[in-house]
Amino acid sequence: EWVDFPIFFNRIIDRFEFTKNQNVTFIRRIPKDAIFVEIDEDKVTQVLDNIISNAMKYSPEGGRITFQVKQEESRITISVSDEGVGIPKDNLTKIFDRFYRVDRARSRKLGGTGLGLAIAKEMVTAHGGEIWAESVEGKGTTISFTLPYDAAEDDWS
Ligand code: ATP
Ligand code: MG
Repeated sequence: EWVDFPIFFNRIIDRFEFTKNQNVTFIRRIPKDAIFVEIDEDKVTQVLDNIISNAMKYSPEGGRITFQVKQEESRITISVSDEGVGIPKDNLTKIFDRFYRVDRARSRKLGGTGLGLAIAKEMVTAHGGEIWAESVEGKGTTISFTLPYDAAEDDWS
């Protein structure tokens, strides 16, 4: 179905904002204007839920989580950045593998199965997009993904 992405994304972030019980600040860099994309709303919700829960799980007390949407000619890039522990360079692609978790001891304490990002990757790929991670250990992590977008579709006037 066709979805106005900024409205859809803000609604998901609101849900986390209203239910969070930890001291993290949300920063939204999301365009005000409509951006229509053709997506499976449930699946992309699942992708964002996974990425945002990870960002919260690995955020320190008082950390900031930044949500960003960048619009290009043929795709939009969505990213979620945290100020958490980060991910070692060698593991940046492995985190998208099933059951892969960076630090077993730490991960066990924080809970989870290691499936979240593998499922996210499957769903983003099914939409014709890409997903990747960037990170500086001790500074934070950014998870980004793209969704196909056709600028011409917005040009109905
Ligand atoms: P699940 O999502 O199934 O509950 P999980 O969160 O451990 O479990 P993934 O979401 O697939 O699994 O993430 C895989 C691993 O990548 C995590 O265990 C963690 O080690 C690392 N990781 C993911 N996101 C972050 C992040 N924002 N900061 C630091 N490490 C991360
Ligand atoms: Mg997860």
